[in-house]
Amino acid sequence: MQLKAPRGTYDILPPDSQKWQYVEKIVRETARLFGYSEIRTPIFEYTELFERGVGDTTDIVTKEMYTFQDKANRSLTLRPEGTACCVRALIEHSVYGGVMPIKWYYNGPMFRYDRPQTGRFRQFQQFGVEVFGSNSPYLDAEVIMLLTGILEKLGLGDFELHLNSVGCPICREIYRDKLLAHIAPARERLCADCQQRYEKNPLRVIDCKVESCREAIAGFPNIFDSLCTDCSQHYAGVKASLTQNGIDYIQDHNLVRGLDYYTNTAFEIHIPKIGAQSAVGGGGRYNGLVKQCGGPDMPGIGFALGMERLLLALDNLTEGQHSDSYLEVFLAVQDEKWASQALKVLDRLRKAGIRADRDYNGRSMKAQMKYADKLGACIVVLMGENEVNGGFFTLRDMVSREQQEVSAEDLIPRLKDILA
Ligand code: AMP
Repeated sequence: MQLKAPRGTYDILPPDSQKWQYVEKIVRETARLFGYSEIRTPIFEYTELFERGVGDTTDIVTKEMYTFQDKANRSLTLRPEGTACCVRALIEHSVYGGVMPIKWYYNGPMFRYDRPQTGRFRQFQQFGVEVFGSNSPYLDAEVIMLLTGILEKLGLGDFELHLNSVGCPICREIYRDKLLAHIAPARERLCADCQQRYEKNPLRVIDCKVESCREAIAGFPNIFDSLCTDCSQHYAGVKASLTQNGIDYIQDHNLVRGLDYYTNTAFEIHIPKIGAQSAVGGGGRYNGLVKQCGGPDMPGIGFALGMERLLLALDNLTEGQHSDSYLEVFLAVQDEKWASQALKVLDRLRKAGIRADRDYNGRSMKAQMKYADKLGACIVVLMGENEVNGGFFTLRDMVSREQQEVSAEDLIPRLKDILA
C-alpha cells in the first residue's frame, strides 16, 4: 500500500488551512457584495455533459477528464470545471423561469489529468461565478470588476488583465475563413493536434504552444477587424466601462476560445510573479452554451479563479492578516481532580463565543504556560488550589504578564472586555 496522496493532489494542514479559510472568506464576501448566491453541484456528472458543455475538441475533454464507469455501466466524469455543471442545474431546475439575471458563485474541487507542476494539479480548487440572463456589456465589466476586486482586497494589485472579444458565430465565421487562408500555406508544419484543429476548430491553433505552430500562425489576422457592428459595440461598451472604473487592460487578440458558444468578451488575469502558470483566473461570455446544453436561448457570462494560484501569489501573507482561529483563552488546571469542573468552565467560555482550550496530557503548571504560549493564547485563566477554594479565577495576560483576580460571575464579562 502506498501511503502517499495521489500524484497531482495534496493535503492542506494547519496552519495553511487558515490561509485557505481567509481567502475563501474574502472571495465569498466579495461575491455577496456583488449580489451573488452560492450554488453547490455534485463533483461528478454524466460524461456527456462535459462533452457537450465544454466541447469535444478541447484538451479538457479529449485528454484530461477522469472518466469512469459506475456499477450500472453509466459513464461518469469528475467535474473538470464548473460552468457546465451550473448550466445543467439551471436547466434541470428551470431556474430561468424566475427573476433575471441569475447570479451564482461556487467554490470547490475540480479534476483534470494534466502534468503536475508548480501551480498545476490534478485536483485543484476553483472559485467561480456564472450570470445567466443578461447580455449587457456593463455586466461584463461588473463581472471583471468582481474578479479584480477580489485580487485587490487580497493585496494582489499587481495583476495584468488581458481582454479580447471573440465576436458571435456570424462574425467568427468570417474570421475563421481569414484565419484558414492565413494558415493554409504553412499547414504542413502544424503539430498533429493542430492538423486536427485546422479541420475542426482553427481558432484553437492560436492557443498552441508548439514552436512550429507559433511560426505557422505568425502575423495572423486580428479578430477585432472582423467583428460585426453589434459585437464591436458590445466590446467598446465593456472597454469604456472598465476605463471609467479605472481598470487597466491589455487587448490581447491571442486570447481566443474557439467554440461556437463562446461569444464576445474573453478575459484572463495574470500575476506574473507566480511564474510559468501565471494565469490566476479567466472567463468570458458564453451566449450559446445554455442552448447547446438543451436549455433556452439565454446569454451567460462567468469566470473561474484558481485558488491554489491565488495562495501561491499570497505566499508572504502575514499571520495577523489571515488568522482568526488562534486561541483566545487557555485554562491552566493545576490538578486533574478538577477536570470535570474545568470542562464546565470551558463550556461556559465557548458558549459565550470565546475560543478556549486546556491541556489533556498531564502537564505541570509551568509546562501548561509554555503550551498556552505555543497555542497563541492571549489570556491564561488559572485554576489552582486558591482559586477553586476561594471561588475565583486568576487571569494572566500573556503579553504584559500582568495578573488579576476575578470572581466566577465576572469571568466572562471581564474576558470579553480584555479580548475586545
Ligand atoms: P480554466 O477553467 O481552464 O479557464 O481555468 C481557470 C483558472 O483555474 C486558471 O486560471 C487557473 O488559475 C486555474 N486552473 C486551471 N487548471 C488548473 C490546474 N490543473 N491546477 C491548478 N489550477 C488550475
